[in-house]
Amino acid sequence: MFELPPLPYTYDALEPYIDATTVEIHHDRHHGTYTGAFNVAIKGTPLEGKDIVEIFDVIEDYPAAVRNNGGGYANHNLYWQILAPNGTSERPVGEIEKAIDSTYGSYEIFRDKFTEAAMSVFGSGWAWLVVKPSGELSICTTPLQDNPMMRIGGERKGYPILGIDLWEHAYYLSYQNRRAEYIKNFFHIINWYIVDSLYMAAIKYYKENDDMTNAPLGEEPIP
Ligand code: MN
Repeated sequence: MFELPPLPYTYDALEPYIDATTVEIHHDRHHGTYTGAFNVAIKGTPLEGKDIVEIFDVIEDYPAAVRNNGGGYANHNLYWQILAPNGTSERPVGEIEKAIDSTYGSYEIFRDKFTEAAMSVFGSGWAWLVVKPSGELSICTTPLQDNPMMRIGGERKGYPILGIDLWEHAYYLSYQNRRAEYIKNFFHIINWYIVDSLYMAAIKYYKENDDMTNAPLGEEPIP
């Protein structure tokens, strides 16, 4: 059974950038519903008892309910984890800071490219910063609740270390149709300490393993 992880802060902790009502509904109801429906979708199938990345490895062999709810479960686990109460860290730290600087030139350029990717998602989906098996960083997007670790068409996009939920339920109460403003404010509440620890975990995993089948997706402890 997959369980809804408790929110690692209070509902109002992301204000003024994400309001408390949005966080409460988004976590307790949306994320809660994906989690419950995911358990129902895998019940009695060979996926029962497997970990999330093993399930993502064979996601194309199963119905859309597994893909959509399994993605919804895992994507939101990461989303809540990489957000932080206002003021925790405004800029990348540690190894991820160095990696962003060497890959994109500067944090500001990375932020522009990530914003551009997020704005390019038509309808509901996600934008991600992932680590490729080569260790390189890459910005990508996925539709609906697809996760970059899902093997689709034989390929994975990479190990996600940062993700922004672009479904309207993530921002509509405060921002209505103003997705650009939500994305701009998202950068004020990223927990770069967690993103750094996920980056290090991904690099370590790639050094020790040929693929990510048993990767501990989004399971780094909150410091
Ligand atoms: Mn969501």
